[in-house]
Amino acid sequence: MNMKVNRYNYPSQFGNDLQPLLRAIGEDLLKGHYILTEAVDSFETAFADYIGAKYCVGTNSGTDALILALLAMGIGPGDEVITQANTFYATVAAICFVGATPVLVDAEPHAYLMDIEQVEPAITARTKAIIAVHLFGKCMPMKKLLALAEKHQLRVIEDAAQSHGARIDGRAAGHFGDIGCFSFHPSKNLAAAGDAGAIVTDDLHLAEQIKVLRALGQSGQNRHVALGMNSKLDAIQARVLSAKLGHLEHWNEQRRAVAAHCISRLDGLPLSYQAPAEHEDHVYHLFQVRTEQRDALLAHLQSNGIDAVVRYPTPIHLQEAFAAYGWKAGDFPVAEALATQTLCLPLRPDMDADEVDRVCGCVRAFFEGHS
Ligand SMILES: *Cc1c(COP(=O)(O)O)cnc(C)c1O
Repeated sequence: MNMKVNRYNYPSQFGNDLQPLLRAIGEDLLKGHYILTEAVDSFETAFADYIGAKYCVGTNSGTDALILALLAMGIGPGDEVITQANTFYATVAAICFVGATPVLVDAEPHAYLMDIEQVEPAITARTKAIIAVHLFGKCMPMKKLLALAEKHQLRVIEDAAQSHGARIDGRAAGHFGDIGCFSFHPSKNLAAAGDAGAIVTDDLHLAEQIKVLRALGQSGQNRHVALGMNSKLDAIQARVLSAKLGHLEHWNEQRRAVAAHCISRLDGLPLSYQAPAEHEDHVYHLFQVRTEQRDALLAHLQSNGIDAVVRYPTPIHLQEAFAAYGWKAGDFPVAEALATQTLCLPLRPDMDADEVDRVCGCVRAFFEGHS
């Protein structure tokens, strides 16, 4: 008898908050409170506070948050932006959408994050910014990267779409560089009921610029001062996000506890994980395990009802969408190895000990049956 272990449990994210949330949304619907309402302002203020940043501007998605960050910095054709080969499509697509050129560096093999050592050699006279990705819920060691950016006068954008509340040395992901970009896609640790995103920054000028750029370039009604997008945080999504934000810190703690429990239950098996750093709070957006038998382990887990998945089987430089940049297999060997050797075990804040046992028992049976 195999019970399923799922990756998401949305009812558990609402609990007793559902009825008041539905009532508030109902009132908005009847009053016509739809666009850039008080609910949007209030979520922006609360999220900025949570991150510890001065300003938050809500957007339609995390992808748009990245595009708006680049636009607000005036980055475009002729400019280069450095990021990593092992990230989600949107990090790199955003660079391409503003007309700039993405320059990739490889991943670091232990943390599965950007290899900072490769950044400086990638800097040219055209480099304008670095996008660091806090991947899978683990915060990049930003100190070194910020020093490098300062030395070369580069902007730093953080893609914190997977790392709401992740910290290193007590500082939150998204609050190290010039702008932090977040996604509230339903899969993320803080999940809207549809697409939503935000930027955070301490820079008033950038925040104001992004407010203009997300709203059709308007500085006031009928006055379009810049070529803006239409990418505002939806008012209903702001309500959903506000209802959940107060639980996020606890959920992140639960994620850490579940991950620690799994790691101890999997002790002795030929698996590795993102290497821990000192003074960090990982938020385990995805619980990555690495093994050379990845595909066989994945099939074994899935056939036993364990909702394991692979993120991301094809690194950026081998994606068809980016063929024009001329990257080829072998260019970023660590990203390629991670793409073939990592999988995500299901991990939810509300996972109980039985579910952890089922997942870990299934992994153990795979290795013990094959050894
Ligand atoms: C989810 C994600 C994005 C994009 O966010 P959307 O809200 O889906 O547009 C960008 N970067 C990373 C690393 C992500 O995980």
